[in-house]
Amino acid sequence: MLTFKSERIMAKVIDSKIPAGPVPEKWKEYKAHQRLVNPKNKLKLDVIVVGTGLAGASAAASLGEMGFNVINLCIQDSPRRAHSIAAQGGINAAKCYQNDGDSVYRLFYDTVKGGDYRAREANVYRLAEVSNNIIDQCVAQGVPFAREYGGMLANRSFGGAQVSRTFYAKGQTGQQLLLGAYSSLSCQVQAGKVKLYTRYEMEDVVIVDGRARGIIAKNLVTGKLERFSANAVVIATGGYGNTYFLSTNAMGCNCTAAVQCYRKGAYFANPSYVQIHPTCIPVHGDKQSKLTLMSESLRNDGRIWVPKKIEDAKALQAGTKQGWEIPEEDRDYYLERRYPAFGNLVPRDVASRAAKERCDKGFGVNNTGLAVFLDFSESINRLGLDVIMQRYGNLFEMYEEITDVFPGDVANEINGVKYYKPMMIYPAIHYTMGGIWVDYELQTSIPGLFAIGECNFSDHGANRLGASALMQGLADGYFVLPYTIQNYLADQAVWPKVSTDLPEFAEAEKKVDAELDRLLNIKGKRSVDSIHKELGHIMWEYVGMGRTAEGLKTGLKKMHELEKEFDENLFVPGTKEGLNIELDKAIHLRDFFTMGQLVAFDALSRNESCGGHFREEYQTEEGEAKRDDENYFYVGCWEYKGKGNEPELIKEPLEYEAIKVQTRNYKN
Ligand SMILES: Cc1cc2nc3c(=O)[nH]c(=O)nc-3n(C[C@H](O)[C@H](O)[C@H](O)COP(=O)(O)OP(=O)(O)OC[C@H]3O[C@@H](n4cnc5c(N)ncnc54)[C@H](O)[C@@H]3O)c2cc1C
Repeated sequence: MLTFKSERIMAKVIDSKIPAGPVPEKWKEYKAHQRLVNPKNKLKLDVIVVGTGLAGASAAASLGEMGFNVINLCIQDSPRRAHSIAAQGGINAAKCYQNDGDSVYRLFYDTVKGGDYRAREANVYRLAEVSNNIIDQCVAQGVPFAREYGGMLANRSFGGAQVSRTFYAKGQTGQQLLLGAYSSLSCQVQAGKVKLYTRYEMEDVVIVDGRARGIIAKNLVTGKLERFSANAVVIATGGYGNTYFLSTNAMGCNCTAAVQCYRKGAYFANPSYVQIHPTCIPVHGDKQSKLTLMSESLRNDGRIWVPKKIEDAKALQAGTKQGWEIPEEDRDYYLERRYPAFGNLVPRDVASRAAKERCDKGFGVNNTGLAVFLDFSESINRLGLDVIMQRYGNLFEMYEEITDVFPGDVANEINGVKYYKPMMIYPAIHYTMGGIWVDYELQTSIPGLFAIGECNFSDHGANRLGASALMQGLADGYFVLPYTIQNYLADQAVWPKVSTDLPEFAEAEKKVDAELDRLLNIKGKRSVDSIHKELGHIMWEYVGMGRTAEGLKTGLKKMHELEKEFDENLFVPGTKEGLNIELDKAIHLRDFFTMGQLVAFDALSRNESCGGHFREEYQTEEGEAKRDDENYFYVGCWEYKGKGNEPELIKEPLEYEAIKVQTRNYKN
């Protein structure tokens, strides 16, 4: 087993913020005035968990089981509807069921390398260590993972790995895992240890004497603001991909909770590390509000290609030729050509950039020129349609439902070889590696505030490998946070839960209320969606797949102007009372502006390319990302300095002890 010095990295930063020594005078004062809710029963510890995705539901269930009183909130009407159910492809673990040489070390190594050597080594090692426990836990809950004929759990491969370590349940892995976590959660609800608040949205975190002591949440049905107090607050509220408007994320995903924590002093780490997934259904018009992912698992058997000849590409774009009319010798399987060792299973950042490079050169295959083919002809000919349907049936059906093309239909036969209708795919915003900064114990820079799952930055460096988000969310929720939070809570016997009557709660609630009034009273002419769509265009154009210093500065300027338009010309119909979805969306958009600028600031400050952050000025002759380890081998943590002001960058140096930092190579 490896141990790391960096396990304690930045603990000093946290320590310096925790008031040292005995209970401060102010607390004695509260005690004297009997303002503590539970002065007699000091050991009754309450934890707020915001979010019921895989990270939140698993944490709430585990904390409940350990005897804490948990308040668990989510936006949806049921935890079962959290965004995590969108996860299709699978979850990684180092079980080595395939006997292909996998190990905890190898999973650790692949994840660090996949993250382009920008992750914290110690965290990733812990993640790899607990990966196997997650599978055991989920099997015990009854999660119906796919099995081999003989009963063993089946595996498939995901990008960035040369072993088969991804456990899956058809194309619905996230949903099945969430049903498992939900059943544990329901058990704790029944036992009275977890109290669920569905259709509630956290609007602010309440800080008392430098520690997170509660939250202000909006009841989304009545519109009322409510106060919740606890000994610690955990946010598990997902990523910020929807800043780009069009993404594969669920429509409800937003970064309001994380941004409010950032505004209250939590550092935000590596915001520029945004993942663009190579296999999404291409954008097909200006009226679209959502993009659909075609799971990375399809790259196990699907081959990615564009025509070799530019005249074929032009004919495809003009609609005078179809993909299946192009014979084998005229197809450019560009990933297999450029990266022979990993082929179609290179990591997402590499595959996305390669697709963009082909399309930028004019080889795109749809009418916009912004698509490449994902073709199953070879695998269907080799394995038969039945086998392919067993593996990807629901994904084929989903593709057909959206595009009216069924990838299992024979379309042509050339020289005795059957050609099937290929899918068309293009990169799209998918996942955010950046997030609220946490230490090794998953505590943010605000004592008592923890962040887990996609909303923290912890494990994926500059690029996340496929099937690792579910692994991280469940590692955080089942196996890390329930233990590390106790180091903080141990101290809580002398710091009991406070009353929500404290002035800090009243002030936070007043501010949220004033914000709702402000947004409703702008009474301008533009809808939330029209402004959000424009923000998305700016983000994609200037802060997207290829970034330059010039472009980022332009993007920031445009964002400032658009934010002004938002502040002066927004129209939100209805009132504060009752359900008002437009008002909720306006709050989210306000925070997407803060987030978008943060992504741009971070991208501008990082004069190198790594993982999902590609600065066009910093690339090799072959167009690969060019890191600068001498100057940028750190986690970039940002501290909020007020609206319109540039945030301050604080650097957490990375220390690698077990893995040699080198240039990523997927060629051989
Ligand atoms: C299409 C798609 C497919 C994917 N496939 C895979 C895959 O195969 N394998 C893999 O490893 N990863 C996959 N991912 C990534 C993975 O699904 C996510 O990273 C992961 O599910 C995030 O889980 P989470 O618990 O952190 O957050 P989420 O699932 O996003 O849950 C967030 C929770 O927070 C709540 N919430 C948010 N804001 C607030 C607020 N202000 N107040 C109260 N509650 C709030 C929400 O209601 C929700 O309950 C996929 C992602 C997408 C988009």
